[in-house]
Amino acid sequence: MIIVMNSAASVTEISSVIRKVEQLGFKPYPSRGAQQTVIGVIGQPGSNTPEALAEVAQLPGVAQVSPVDKSCKLVNREFKPEPTVIRVNGVAIGGDEFVVMAGPCSVESSSQLMETARAVAKLGGRVLRGGAFKPRTSPYSFQGLGEEGLQIMLAAKQETGLPIITEVMAPELVPLVARYADIMQIGTRNMQNYALLEAVGQARKPVMLKRGMMSTIDEMLQAAEYILSNGNMQVMFCERGIRTFEKATRNTLDLSAVPVIKSMSHLPVIIDPSHATGRKDCIPAMSRAALAAGADGVIVEVHPRPEEALSDGPQSLLFDEFEDLVNQLRPIAEAMGKTMV
Ligand code: PEP
Ligand code: MN
Repeated sequence: MIIVMNSAASVTEISSVIRKVEQLGFKPYPSRGAQQTVIGVIGQPGSNTPEALAEVAQLPGVAQVSPVDKSCKLVNREFKPEPTVIRVNGVAIGGDEFVVMAGPCSVESSSQLMETARAVAKLGGRVLRGGAFKPRTSPYSFQGLGEEGLQIMLAAKQETGLPIITEVMAPELVPLVARYADIMQIGTRNMQNYALLEAVGQARKPVMLKRGMMSTIDEMLQAAEYILSNGNMQVMFCERGIRTFEKATRNTLDLSAVPVIKSMSHLPVIIDPSHATGRKDCIPAMSRAALAAGADGVIVEVHPRPEEALSDGPQSLLFDEFEDLVNQLRPIAEAMGKTMV
């Protein structure tokens, strides 16, 4: 249910509507836009929200009360017309800045990560990525350093000032990962792991939800709704390619997901051209296209010695390739009215 206030509604009128919604046993989510205030309303599952809220429509200052699609409420742009901006350690994601996140696929050692973190910070990266818990297709592949990897990430943050993003793979690991990470990543294989979505929903740390490789945009929005409805509104989406019949690239990057998600949701959208293509020669073109399509940022894999990487070496950029990428993005950001640091 959405309550749209008149553009001339007073602060007192808005407060009385919010109070009334609470008195009726519903949860209000006010969103104060430049033009008007919109109040999203969530009831208990099974409750008849429109009927119970009929009297709210009569209150002074209310322009319109309308129902909202059942499956997606909190992620819905109708519910909150203003874009959500997520702030991590001085970096705002979803605002005017086009945010470049970069780092290795996996944290392999302190020296590998520190070397990468310094380069990422110096060359224009704003968030440091690195996997400590790795979801690998084969159980015999490198599985990550676990908590030691998180400690290395934290040391890199302390030295460079870069906030860190790292994957959390299981509900029981959420408290541990949340202690270290600035952004918790839900990987493609876990997009519909509902216990995990609920666990990160109860944590107070931003989340990047990667699109399931076989999931529709609508399923991704509904997955995000699990996180928001558990109390965590700081969610960004990540399009990382979907499985198609095409074999020339690791996945197929669905760039149309950017305007589609933006039209449906207020949450930021990040593009991951590394996992989408699996080919480092494709990463600059897909990053430029992501920026032109309206994405809020990219996340790319960078490694000091890709040939020695324990995971995803072939798609990892060298430092000078990363520098080149950032330099290619700057004029496009300017043309798009976005900033880059
Ligand atoms: C990753 O970002 O390291 C990763 C495993 O990505 P995805 O879940 O998109 O495969
Ligand atoms: Mn990877």
